[in-house]
Amino acid sequence: MVETTRYMTTEVIAALRREIEENRGAELFAVLRRGEGEQQFTQVSIVCRGTHTEVPALISRTQAGDMTVHNHPSGVLQPSRADMAMATLFGEEGVGSMIVNNEVSHCIVVAEPAADQKKVDVATDEVAAILGPEGALSRKLPNYESREGQVAMATSVAKALNEEHILSVEAGTGTGKSLAYLIPAMLWSKHNRDRIVIATKTIALQEQLVNKDIPLAQSVIPDPPRAALIKGRGNYVCLRKMADVRSHQMALFTDEERDIQREVEDLAAWVEETGKGDLADLPFMPSRESWDLIRSDADMCLGAKCPFFQRAPFYESRRRAAQSRILVVNQALLFADLAVRQQSDNYKTAAVMPSYGHVILDEAHSMEDIATDHFGNKVSSLGLRFLLAKFFSNNRGSKGVLSRLLNVAVDGAANLARVLGDELLPEYTVIQDEVVQQIHALSRALHNQFNPEGKRNVLLWLRNEILGSGELDEAKAEAARLMELLHRLMLVVKNVRTHLENQSEAFLDQHQGICIELAARMSRVEDTLSTLKYFAIRQDPNHVPWLELKISRRFEEFEYRVSPLDVSGTLREALFQPFKSVVMTSATLDLKDEFRFFTNRNGLAKLEDKKQITQSFASPFDYARQAGLCLVRMSSGPTHPAFADDLAGLILKTALSPFPGGTLVLFTAYAQMNIVARTLEQPLAQAGVALLVQGREQRSVLVEKIKKNHGVLLGTDSFWEGIDLPGHALTKVIIAKLPFRQMRDPIFEARCTAIEADGRSSFSEYSLPLALLKFKQGVGRLIRTKEDRGVLIIADNRILNKGYGKRFLSLVDAYPRWELTQAQLVAQLHGEQEVRGRG
Ligand code: SF4
Repeated sequence: MVETTRYMTTEVIAALRREIEENRGAELFAVLRRGEGEQQFTQVSIVCRGTHTEVPALISRTQAGDMTVHNHPSGVLQPSRADMAMATLFGEEGVGSMIVNNEVSHCIVVAEPAADQKKVDVATDEVAAILGPEGALSRKLPNYESREGQVAMATSVAKALNEEHILSVEAGTGTGKSLAYLIPAMLWSKHNRDRIVIATKTIALQEQLVNKDIPLAQSVIPDPPRAALIKGRGNYVCLRKMADVRSHQMALFTDEERDIQREVEDLAAWVEETGKGDLADLPFMPSRESWDLIRSDADMCLGAKCPFFQRAPFYESRRRAAQSRILVVNQALLFADLAVRQQSDNYKTAAVMPSYGHVILDEAHSMEDIATDHFGNKVSSLGLRFLLAKFFSNNRGSKGVLSRLLNVAVDGAANLARVLGDELLPEYTVIQDEVVQQIHALSRALHNQFNPEGKRNVLLWLRNEILGSGELDEAKAEAARLMELLHRLMLVVKNVRTHLENQSEAFLDQHQGICIELAARMSRVEDTLSTLKYFAIRQDPNHVPWLELKISRRFEEFEYRVSPLDVSGTLREALFQPFKSVVMTSATLDLKDEFRFFTNRNGLAKLEDKKQITQSFASPFDYARQAGLCLVRMSSGPTHPAFADDLAGLILKTALSPFPGGTLVLFTAYAQMNIVARTLEQPLAQAGVALLVQGREQRSVLVEKIKKNHGVLLGTDSFWEGIDLPGHALTKVIIAKLPFRQMRDPIFEARCTAIEADGRSSFSEYSLPLALLKFKQGVGRLIRTKEDRGVLIIADNRILNKGYGKRFLSLVDAYPRWELTQAQLVAQLHGEQEVRGRG
């Protein structure tokens, strides 16, 4: 036992002592930190408050070099078994553990924190020793082929980590890019105890990393770092909410809601039986209603104060993450974490995720879209009604938080029950009905003005001309009335909360869940009010206000959104500047323009004080031997009314040709796809060829079906990327139309307008590069392995007739190419079958 002054300043000692006294001598858990070169710990954060016998210990709040502290109220400072286990866990992360008495005069240091660590570089030969021709992977996998591009890319990633710079790297299909970043990332985090985040766009790639590539990489690195998949909180069951629903709400379900009730019971049984709580592990897909009742929410979570905290599935996942040095996440979660870090200027400790020093973004071609989606605000008629129903609803009123409060008040707080039942709830329900009517009134005003023909879906950029024209006057007046009503509604709820807060501590403790839910729902209404405050009002030019109007079932719905016009500044501030290194990779970053489009759009072009490197690694595939490109002269252009029939004929000829294997047809709009699908139904059925259409079945089901039975798969937007169908499952890809974005996309339209206003060409600077990227993604569906053979068919005459067609063709210049009519196509496919189809 030694005096605490040896380790910490008197200010830190005083702060700890004060906290212990305020916590009535119970245990607390704190983290001490010291500045660079300081001997003593000078900063203290109180992280958890416990009981006289235990306290939670959160590894996610620490970083290497920190000292964790907890007190033993008994004054006996010997570490318990649990203390030893935690000290081991913290110690592995370079974090020390100390136990103090309640006076904070003496302590025992169970584990010393790591001293400032020297950076250990990943050597190029370490990478080659794993990925090279004689490397560990070639010894492990009998058919392993070392790929030059993969080794070179891995070396570049290692350099980016060692030298702390930004790397944008295009890796053609078949390079093996996942292992090319995983191997150096794992070696780096092993040597340096540094955490690295790997963010992808698609779940498919996350699954591939977690189930295949990461275990493989770990198997060839001695003592490899741990890795964990992190998901958003809403993917996990909240045990407190589930217990609350089961003990207080089951009897309150209406007859129509029996299915929800049954699902909640099934979910609870599954959690009890398996001890799991991750939505992805569930053997069945729950309805949105039942999952919403029991999923974890940030603003309804009691955190360390929750009785279920130690076994809460969300926190278990975060504990696993805290013990892992490689974190796999989706890009949306990464941006959620970055937004919190940027706001709080915290890049050292946990935010949405534990802290990390380096970021690797795979599928980085989507960064701008995902960041745009994430950094915006929205309010929708459906979302608002849903939110109100969570307070009180006649249909599901029994489960609204206010009616639950009334139910429990009847048993334990007669005064509250009386005020609620006699005054506040009747007042609340009257105003809520008015609010619901007002939401409809606002929807109606918007539809009357902008959707008088009652189309199913209308997208509209609220450009300055519209905002200043008076076209929105009626809607603005309705929105103002809606805000006024929401304010009145919140006054009643605040009144409820004041009465609730006057109840006994025991009552509040017992119904903590209701208290926290009420506060969370109120703050969501406040968020809605702050978005509505700027409804249809001109804002700074970096924001794009837009509307989506829908007719769904019997309701006219609206969604009002405000999206960032440009995310480049945000990406620079939140991602590129604060992190030591950022690696971005995809098969489509370079448009033969030296990454100019990619670096401009994402803010790298204006990034100063940080070294940047861009590199391309070509695909190892022999496209001249494996693939062919048919440019078909169609009798009409893609916007001509006859085009759909023409295209259907082309698809039929291709699918029924002797060239074996499945056909993927890529569209740019649902409407055209559905017209073509209807034309193809009968002839394909007669020929015994399966027709698979996006939207008719789930994407994964469609992919499985084409893998098994081949046939013809028609898809739009999301089918241009992320589909991996090697072998005969897919041997023919037809691009129906060059994938230019439509002006009906409000953000696209606003961005084009901003570029034009700046005196530049939106077509060459934005629209064309976006289409080229998408095209490159679509083409990439065809050849997935060295054994694949396939034909790419382009049915859009503009590739031959327009000047920009050459830009598209330059992206497939490795393919042997033919220009032909539809009639010649059949003969060509016959010949191709002779040359390429046999593979
Ligand atoms: S810790 Fe939070 S998420 Fe977990 S059970 Fe408790 S309230 Fe729910």
